[in-house]
Amino acid sequence: MKPINQKANIIPRLHCLLFDHVFEETRAVTLHVKEYECKYCKKQATTNGNGRLTELTPAFREINGILERVYKHRTMRKSMLKVAKQDLKITG
Ligand SMILES: [Zn+2]
Repeated sequence: MKPINQKANIIPRLHCLLFDHVFEETRAVTLHVKEYECKYCKKQATTNGNGRLTELTPAFREINGILERVYKHRTMRKSMLKVAKQDLKITG
């Protein structure tokens, strides 16, 4: 066994037990929904419907994937409409 590695794993968890997690953004799903990871224990979290952080479960990961696709599709469509309107102004 490797006692040094076990100590290295306990210290980050101890930090989170004592001081709470330190989440860093890992992925922006939409403007308001993001995914985070604790820089000490690697626990993953996401923004829930109330705007608060909740544990990133497989179900939330799947929902975020769908949200991201819908959000990207909508923003791409809006930007294409904006370009089309500008083209109309120039030619018309
Ligand atoms: Zn943590």
